[in-house]
Amino acid sequence: MSIISKYANQGSINVFIFKTESNLLGFAPGFTSGWQDYKILSPFYDVIFVSLEGLKDHNTLTHELGHWFSLDHPFIIDERGQIVYFNKEELSEIGINSSKEYCINHMNYSCCSSTFTDVQLHQQHWFAKTYRNYIAL
Ligand SMILES: [Zn+2]
Repeated sequence: MSIISKYANQGSINVFIFKTESNLLGFAPGFTSGWQDYKILSPFYDVIFVSLEGLKDHNTLTHELGHWFSLDHPFIIDERGQIVYFNKEELSEIGINSSKEYCINHMNYSCCSSTFTDVQLHQQHWFAKTYRNYIAL
């Protein structure tokens, strides 16, 4: 029996805290498409994992909730593990229009993150209503 099937509750966002020696602060398993399957597979993807170190970081849980509600990073990591930064136009599509907005964004890995853009908040709200509406909101 997996830890998820043993402890996760259907209809909830389940946060599991784990201990690790790695630098992994947290993760939220999910799909890049097929979001309609979340309801069918609940509670197996209704989980967020945060490490003990992640609990000390002010942004980890908020960042993982952003992923849980469909947000991506404002950059991609290529097949070689290198960060490829979005260009100005790509950042603008997610509401990031300045280097300050990039720096303080919860979906960045910055130490001074403190906000989502209005576009990201709208995306999360739409996603919750459309694909995570089986969770009591
Ligand atoms: Zn992330």
